[in-house]
Amino acid sequence: MKRLGSVTAEMYFLAISDGRITCLADYAKHGPLSQIARRKNVQLPPLSERIAESEPLPAFLHTDRWLVACPDCRRDFQLVWTMTLLYMCATCWNADVGGRWRPVGLPPDRAAIEAAMSRRPRPQERNWLPGETGEHLLREEADPGRGTGITSIQQLHDLLGA
Ligand SMILES: [Zn+2]
Repeated sequence: MKRLGSVTAEMYFLAISDGRITCLADYAKHGPLSQIARRKNVQLPPLSERIAESEPLPAFLHTDRWLVACPDCRRDFQLVWTMTLLYMCATCWNADVGGRWRPVGLPPDRAAIEAAMSRRPRPQERNWLPGETGEHLLREEADPGRGTGITSIQQLHDLLGA
């Protein structure tokens, strides 16, 4: 069977929510993010406005999932909504950018990265960090350790240099 590519928030939440959560708007309105926000008494800004003019947060691939991590509090990471490239930290609520949504950036060579990953049999070997080139990925394939071997969010932030 043909692989669909690495896991995005759209794929993941569609699968676990019986079709209730198909996009970031659903996730922010009645998904896990909205539930945490309600519990913390946080009002999420509408997606159509309140977007920070900051550099896009770089998406990265960890165990075959596209993720983005909070560069401010360094205590949160989430799957990337690839159709709506915005991120709201569920811990600090993007306080450093005035509570606005932060833009997220996928690599321009995403398809090539996913193609390289699809040659790796196990999901835990499918890791990619911003700046890693096709050459780097090929070198990793010759390495029995393969990939970044990240096991904690702290390691992840150290690697991202956040
Ligand atoms: Zn945060």
